[in-house]
Amino acid sequence: MIHLENVSKVYENGTKALDNINIKIEKGEFVFVVGSSGSGKSTFVKLLLKEIEPTEGKIFLKNKNLGVVKRKGIPKLRREMGIVFQDFRLLKNMTVYENIAFALKVTEASKRKIRRQVPMVMSMVGLADKAKNYPNQLSGGEQQRVALARALVNNPVILLADEPTGNLDPKTSWEIMKLLDEINKRGTTVLLVTHDKEIVNAMQKRVITLSNGKVIGDIQKGGYDN
Ligand code: ADP
Ligand code: ADP
Repeated sequence: MIHLENVSKVYENGTKALDNINIKIEKGEFVFVVGSSGSGKSTFVKLLLKEIEPTEGKIFLKNKNLGVVKRKGIPKLRREMGIVFQDFRLLKNMTVYENIAFALKVTEASKRKIRRQVPMVMSMVGLADKAKNYPNQLSGGEQQRVALARALVNNPVILLADEPTGNLDPKTSWEIMKLLDEINKRGTTVLLVTHDKEIVNAMQKRVITLSNGKVIGDIQKGGYDN
């Protein structure tokens, strides 16, 4: 599903953010990527989104070499992924329904498909009754649910979540984690970058640990520190 082969990233100023990384993630896995600040987590995410290019090595997404994806292919690539960020990134002047529908509209989905899919993902994340709310009328946890619904509406094979609970209190964070677990159990590969030791320790999923741009740990079932 995701394969990084001898990937290094050196920024223009000479900083080596990733140093010969090898990672293989299979379909259906739930994977945490952890590491302290500066360990290379954001660089890893940016490489997967093709916001930056590796200095060395190759990245494959569903057996497609990202190095050969042209600029005009990038939006499609990102839609195949389903992405959720710490700061939600919802469109403020659109309701919950419109935010989710918009993600389908840009794929030129039919009206029929939009009318079917949007209510489905809204109820999947428990937001059916908030369809007409604007983002500023929602709590943080609800906004993250909208972001999740928007990421899921295109049926991505991978859900990439970058610190999705970073702005949420512990209780709300757990609700989002439960949702991510359900989404994973329905077959979506989940890749979650986080600092949250408590969540990582409790979930007992695969944990890839980065330090100084290197993979220093990759365990199938474990916590943050073991
Ligand atoms: P993390 O997300 O784990 O905090 P980053 O991937 O942001 O780590 O950073 C890894 C290393 O690369 C750090 O030393 C950081 O200072 C450096 N870095 C990140 N972005 C840039 C950039 N655009 N230019 C130069 N150095 C960068
Ligand atoms: P929090 O407890 O995180 O501060 P809020 O008090 O912002 O959450 O919201 C609590 C509930 O009230 C949420 O379900 C939200 O959707 C709803 N809500 C908040 N503001 C509005 C509003 N202006 N119009 C409609 N519903 C709202």
